[in-house]
Amino acid sequence: MKMQQVSDNCFAVLNEKNRVCDANSGLINLGGGVVIDTQSDLPHARGMIALFSRVWPGMPKRVINTHEDGDHVWGNQLFAGAEIIAHSSVPERMKRVADPEETRHLLASVRNPLTCEKIAAVRPGVVAAGRQLAEDYDLTGVELVLPTTVFDTHHDLDLNGMHVHLRHVGPCHQCGDTIVHVPKERVVFAGDVLFRRCTPMGWTGSYAKWFACLDLLIDLKPDAIVPGHGPVCGVEGVIEMKAYLQYVLEQSRRCFEDGLSVLDAAKRIDFGPYGDWKAPARLYMNVERAYREFRGEPPDAPWDTPATFDAIYALANAKGVPVEF
Ligand SMILES: [Zn+2]
Repeated sequence: MKMQQVSDNCFAVLNEKNRVCDANSGLINLGGGVVIDTQSDLPHARGMIALFSRVWPGMPKRVINTHEDGDHVWGNQLFAGAEIIAHSSVPERMKRVADPEETRHLLASVRNPLTCEKIAAVRPGVVAAGRQLAEDYDLTGVELVLPTTVFDTHHDLDLNGMHVHLRHVGPCHQCGDTIVHVPKERVVFAGDVLFRRCTPMGWTGSYAKWFACLDLLIDLKPDAIVPGHGPVCGVEGVIEMKAYLQYVLEQSRRCFEDGLSVLDAAKRIDFGPYGDWKAPARLYMNVERAYREFRGEPPDAPWDTPATFDAIYALANAKGVPVEF
């Protein structure tokens, strides 16, 4: 975990392994302090707070959750008394998709050799994902703390005269997707609408919405973008991820028309220039999303998460790349 200054008053904390749950956080050190996203467990949240305390004394007055996923909200409880701001869909969605108990149970299961072997026999991908998470994360003590201020389309902050614009752009990756734009410093905190140097994964939303959001990011002409996952970048990071999604959508269409299953399609689709991104087999999820659209399913069709982990595991093995999530 490291801190990086991205402009006069904007900072990022980055988890350099860049695997699932290695989410970034942001800080704007004006107007009482604003933290953007709170990490995946309490040790990481404390590490983030310690790094930010070098440039912001005391606890911040505001927290922004860019969306509802656990890796962006599970440190909320350490910001007692802070205003927690998010899109209006986020509180209910957090209860559905960010229940810490489920992940705690998974981590306990993989740490027990007996249960681990038993589950691995039927759910090898779930165990592989759990083992990876257990290397870095411990959800002991995590409680769900919901946003205290919600908004529908946009929400503006005035930090000692510096304006910060929160804009709901979802559903691209998740329902609550929100970007945080600091125009004066030409910075955007993008949350998980942007993955950098790692394969994007999306749960709720459409390709069309995601492309529109990436175009918006380009139009804002930021000098620095803090993605939800991966290193800080400029608009080149957005252009690259858009090209990836366009490539996957186009290849998926061909496979769909050829009658291939999602897994067979993902096996057929070459990683292309994106093979060195972290966790390339997350490609499976992007093909699955494309197929859902081709089949006319709604953007919020539920996921079978264990089956998804198993499919990523199978794809990584079939492609001969490390099993990573
Ligand atoms: Zn994330």
